[in-house]
Amino acid sequence: MELKKNDVFTVRIEDISEDGAGIGKTDGYTWFIKDTVIGDLVEAGVMKMKKTYGFARLIQVKEPSPSRTEPRCPVARSCGGCQLQAMKYEEQLRFKERKIYNNLRRIGGLTRLVLPGEKRSDGADIDCCYGSGSGDGCEEQKHIKDQACASNERFLEMEPIIGMENPWRYRNKAQFPFGKDKNGRIIFGFYAGRTHAIIENEDCLLGVEENKEILNLIRDYMEEFHIAPYDEQSHTGLVRHALIRKGFRTGELMVCLVINGKKLPHGDALVERMKRVTGMTSISYNINMEKTNVILGQEVVNLCGPGYITDYIGDVKYQISPQSFYQVNPVQTEKLYKTALEYAGLTGEETVWDLYCGIGTISLFLAQKAKKVYGVEIVPAAIADARQNAEINGIENVEFFVGKAEEVLPEQYHKNQVYADVIVVDPPRKGCDTVCLDTIVEMAPKKVVYVSCDSATLARDVKYLGERGYEVSRVRGVDQFGGGVHVETVALLVKKR
Ligand code: SAH
Repeated sequence: MELKKNDVFTVRIEDISEDGAGIGKTDGYTWFIKDTVIGDLVEAGVMKMKKTYGFARLIQVKEPSPSRTEPRCPVARSCGGCQLQAMKYEEQLRFKERKIYNNLRRIGGLTRLVLPGEKRSDGADIDCCYGSGSGDGCEEQKHIKDQACASNERFLEMEPIIGMENPWRYRNKAQFPFGKDKNGRIIFGFYAGRTHAIIENEDCLLGVEENKEILNLIRDYMEEFHIAPYDEQSHTGLVRHALIRKGFRTGELMVCLVINGKKLPHGDALVERMKRVTGMTSISYNINMEKTNVILGQEVVNLCGPGYITDYIGDVKYQISPQSFYQVNPVQTEKLYKTALEYAGLTGEETVWDLYCGIGTISLFLAQKAKKVYGVEIVPAAIADARQNAEINGIENVEFFVGKAEEVLPEQYHKNQVYADVIVVDPPRKGCDTVCLDTIVEMAPKKVVYVSCDSATLARDVKYLGERGYEVSRVRGVDQFGGGVHVETVALLVKKR
């Protein structure tokens, strides 16, 4: 079957890519088809073809997979924010577990890893029954058993992923762009995947319910006072974005209007409207007059309230201003940090280094159970927040350094002979620098707790540390992004004797 652009064909979805696109095959040729689910039989239209693979667009689902569910959001496909909305949440969790598992095995070389609950049919643990001729499971699993048995290694069973109780309305922060539709009407919503066309959406189902009320009040205010939304092409108009944040524990709300100007006209009228919203605590605007994709400018002008909202992760209190970095899913973040804390196994006597510490969230969490915590972070403003957060919580056994982990840690180690019982790392997607990993190995902590937002780079770093005396002893995924493809992973590495 020779296919070319715009041709329509039927294919069964057999697999799913790292970024959530369904994968199907026709005559050995691979197709990536977004918005499909493993098990679907779909009709698709050819968009683009390369030598060995191509991209096609879902036209219709002919036979839905048992894993399929009706996306709740009416703009799920055009918005592009959620890649997995058509997949049942339980299946999303399985997808994420498999993603971590595959990366750790293929890239990390962790051949003894098995998926959570991987048991034989007679109920015995997989690692104590090899050779009894069970004959169950796939060839790959058997192969893993063989390898592990040959090297006399024990199996490592992943701990079950920590999912969300409710995978909707979990985001505490949203940034809505404003613009006009064809008829000149003021609209707001989200940028369509990879473009800057605004998909109108007043109620993203990942965000808080108050967003809708706040956005409509802003639109009323703009209409009444003839305030134009910003137009990217001509760099004219005033209102660029509305940034809305909510403290889930406190119920406090913040609105910050990002404007292409120095002054917001009729600010008092905006304040008067915003105050009608229950929980409204902080109202401000941010000046951004640059031609840029960056949402926030440097300067914030406070219109009403203290300039920040308060929230808690665990028992630690945070003051969050419009510009502060803060975790977007505080409920799951708490579970993530609890897992990291559990893996660290602190007794109160330990010295801990928290590398890539951001505003010190993990550091302050650990400090409650450690003798001393040192945090390292590259962004000076984040460290200023971290120090302030330590202060408002009366936490005194923490110290923060501004700089690159791969520079601060070697310097402190070689000059001041600093010591660590446990080192926690939570790097950005690209993972840890090798200089940082080499220094960790030299410092020889008993444990390394690796918190990762990208299991591929986690796997690469685990392999590197594995070749230098550290062995993975626990692994667990924590889902922070229901509907999306990303997943957080926590791994405990212990120093081999
Ligand atoms: N642990 C924090 C933040 C993790 S995000 C939390 O849980 O909130 C990763 C952080 O690493 C970001 O704050 C980023 O600014 C910082 N970062 C990036 N590269 C770095 C480097 N080379 N050295 C130190 N910090 C770095």
